[in-house]
Amino acid sequence: MDIRTVGVVGAGQMGNGIAHVMALAGYDVLMTDISEDALRRALDLIEGNLMRQASRGKISEADAKAAIGRISTTLKLSDLGQTDLVIEAATERESVKQAIFDDLLPHLKPDTILTSNTSSISITRLASRTDRPEKFMGFHFMNPVPVMQLVELIRGIATDEATYQTCRGVVDRLGKTAASAEDFPAFIVNRILMPMINEAVYTLYEGVGSVDSIDKAMKLGTNHPMGPLELADFIGLDTCLAIMNVLHDGLADTKYRPCPLLTKYVEAGWLGRKTQRGFYDYRGEMPVPTR
Ligand code: NAD
Repeated sequence: MDIRTVGVVGAGQMGNGIAHVMALAGYDVLMTDISEDALRRALDLIEGNLMRQASRGKISEADAKAAIGRISTTLKLSDLGQTDLVIEAATERESVKQAIFDDLLPHLKPDTILTSNTSSISITRLASRTDRPEKFMGFHFMNPVPVMQLVELIRGIATDEATYQTCRGVVDRLGKTAASAEDFPAFIVNRILMPMINEAVYTLYEGVGSVDSIDKAMKLGTNHPMGPLELADFIGLDTCLAIMNVLHDGLADTKYRPCPLLTKYVEAGWLGRKTQRGFYDYRGEMPVPTR
């Protein structure tokens, strides 16, 4: 199938990155969110990021401007019904995603491919509640989308080959690299990454190290570009907790139990960079550890 228009649901940190790379690759993008403010912020951010890429000589100014011109926004989810490919990138909660697909279905043209950028929720289960499980799959970008090379493509049990190949073609056109993952909780990247982040939070919780020493140890000791707590703040602590809960429930193994300290940060609304406070406080000039 020839994809020309892409609908993006959710204009948060992932949604705006997805709209950015899709528009730059020449797709017409229609982005929606429940919050008008989120849509406005996303457009400003995309424009700033594209113009920065242009000023660094990575893309031409004309391409940046053309990409901005290809993105439109709407508060009406039903407007996305006429797009060829929908990528859902709303909050990592199954009930939220379920409601989005339920509301979108009556407005969808028959051949639209439905995908979710979920980090962990079962693609097969999300797909089974739609009218097109064979045209449904996981399209999992990494954060920040314009920078990260990988896209995980996750087939649900019913996903057909044409849908998979179409999504693969989109990844190729973005200049990114696809890795195929089977549909089990958290797929590949987060199945491995999140238990490491959760263990870093346990290490903090048990007083083995401070925020500073844990991040320093992992950066300098294992050559990771970011420490696990810094990375958790970057991803969003609510998203990290949601993924640990999916692993814990889906694999029924106590080794995935979320650290109570992670839960506490989320309950406090300290969700990381997006709320300016998490394992670090970002309100000043330099991030300051909160423990
Ligand atoms: P975010 O909190 O930055 O943004 C979520 C956005 O969804 C918000 O703007 C919110 O208003 C919007 N939203 C909520 N309910 C909605 C609805 N019913 N309709 C439309 N919009 C709605 O979250 P994020 O980090 O962008 O994560 C989005 C998705 O991407 C999640 O499924 C997450 O697991 C996945 N993901 C996140 C990362 C990461 O590093 N943060 C990486 C890969 C995938």
